Amino acid sequence: MNALDSQRLAGILIDRRLVAVDSVDQADVVLLNTCSVREKAVQKVLSRLGEIQHVRRATGRPRVVGLCGCVAEQEGARLLARSSALDFVLGPGRISSLPAALDAVAGGERVSVTGFAPTQDYDAHLIARGQGRRQYVTVIHGCNQHCTFCIVPYTRGHESSRPLADVVQETRRLVADGVREVTLLGQTINAYRCPSSGADFGDLLREVCHVDGVWRVQFVTSHPKFFTDKMIDDMAGLEKLGHYLHVPFQSGSDVILKRMHRGYTREAYLALVGRLRAALPNAIMSTDVIVGFPGETEDDFLATLALADQVRFGQLYGFIFSPRPKTPAGRYPDRVPREVAAERLERLFALQNSVQLSLNQARIGTSVEVLVDGPAKRGATLWQGRGPDNRVVNFPAWEGIAAGEVAPIVVTGATAHALLGQHAPAATASRAGQTRLPAA
Ligand code: SF4
Repeated sequence: MNALDSQRLAGILIDRRLVAVDSVDQADVVLLNTCSVREKAVQKVLSRLGEIQHVRRATGRPRVVGLCGCVAEQEGARLLARSSALDFVLGPGRISSLPAALDAVAGGERVSVTGFAPTQDYDAHLIARGQGRRQYVTVIHGCNQHCTFCIVPYTRGHESSRPLADVVQETRRLVADGVREVTLLGQTINAYRCPSSGADFGDLLREVCHVDGVWRVQFVTSHPKFFTDKMIDDMAGLEKLGHYLHVPFQSGSDVILKRMHRGYTREAYLALVGRLRAALPNAIMSTDVIVGFPGETEDDFLATLALADQVRFGQLYGFIFSPRPKTPAGRYPDRVPREVAAERLERLFALQNSVQLSLNQARIGTSVEVLVDGPAKRGATLWQGRGPDNRVVNFPAWEGIAAGEVAPIVVTGATAHALLGQHAPAATASRAGQTRLPAA
């Protein structure tokens, strides 16, 4: 979501005829886009602002410095008072007010633009998306859930769904520009309701998957309590839907889930996993987990570990609880000592690594349809892409290889974090994109 916000901010600057430069000392305008999901965000911002101020004193640039994103929303005018480097702050619900903020600064003001309008402007045509063949499309802004640990509803405001027709139109335009895969974005994306037609998330997925020329449609993040049987049935029939389901469970303990205000039990979560797997047997599941939530006992943690072991997630994002301002859990007294939480996280990651390794090894000998992204970060001779289930696949380049092509790759090896393969133009990938090849 922040990556897309950065593209929106960059697009507005480009629309004002600014061009990207390589360093702060060449820039007229520097914007910091920030996340405040975890602690220390404000300290990091202040330290970065100190560095920028140092450059500014030495070179006279940048002329304007703005702070955007969730730290801007959280701190607002307080940060203007704390840092003389800052000319304005702009919350994530006010991105479309960037031109007005720049104009105010040009007129000699220092401004704080935060809060949320009843409807969010969304300047889709201005987004500076670059050349990538995978792109994000916002579906819902904000969140109404108020999980007790989470700052998002305070920094991104109330949930508001975009009209279905706008999402489809944006997808069509992206595909016409050469995009192959779109990822639909929302904090609780499966709570989607079209404000004009009342269509739900299953309807939206169906419409987006029917856009001509789209190769794959992914989405993040779903909330376990918003899946309905109708939605899961809709998903099961969609050939272009990605085989990647990110469904955060956060804790395997009912006591902790209740304190988190998550709105489901362990049993309900496991039942949902069963329904999703029955409908989408090729999908890998991914999840978010918080360890060391206030009051988490060893038994609570063991319940989390057991759930991860039972579900066997293809990816797991684990975090130590981080108390956030304004949130109820930030004030809960029974904190878990940091070293205990860190040790639990290590045990969770150790389990997850072994699960991922075995899931990836099970793919050896299959053929995967891969959207080629470009040269891999590591290993100059390797290229990288992702299959329909979002797994990273590395492979040697072939003559004529190009980013954005969809190519069959035979999986020849695996680590916990990626598959390794070879181009296999003769192999036919199945609808699932994962075909086991006949034994030689
Ligand atoms: S549903 Fe997600 S974004 Fe919303 S409050 Fe809960 S954790 Fe935060």
